[in-house]
Amino acid sequence: MPRWSTNGVEGAVVSYRLAKQRLVDAVKDGRSQAKDVCDAQPELRRVAHHHAAGIDEPCPICEGDDLVLVTFAFGVGLPTSGRCVSGRSEMKKLKRRGKPATFYLVEVCRQCWWNHLRESFAISGKEMAAT
Ligand SMILES: [Zn+2]
Repeated sequence: MPRWSTNGVEGAVVSYRLAKQRLVDAVKDGRSQAKDVCDAQPELRRVAHHHAAGIDEPCPICEGDDLVLVTFAFGVGLPTSGRCVSGRSEMKKLKRRGKPATFYLVEVCRQCWWNHLRESFAISGKEMAAT
């Protein structure tokens, strides 16, 4: 499945790549154990199985080939626990609502349950509502 488009994003896309690399390095050099970072909660595991987009990258911990992206949206009019975005059409619908929202993309390995916030971005919704 392709990545989400960030068309319509007014702000910066925040990358958490450096924080991820610190964790991966800690596991690789023995300062942390894999079990400490491969701790996806049951709900995240469920979403990763049913509403995820594949990534063409190996897992940074187990090097398996089942790394996926899960997207959650938080914002005005959305559940306080966030809403799982299950596909491009839902993403477009959220962008067209005309309300601000922040999207969080979490990478999850369905083999070892590594999980880490990959990036986030916000939309105001104003421009998308006008189109
Ligand atoms: Zn893994």
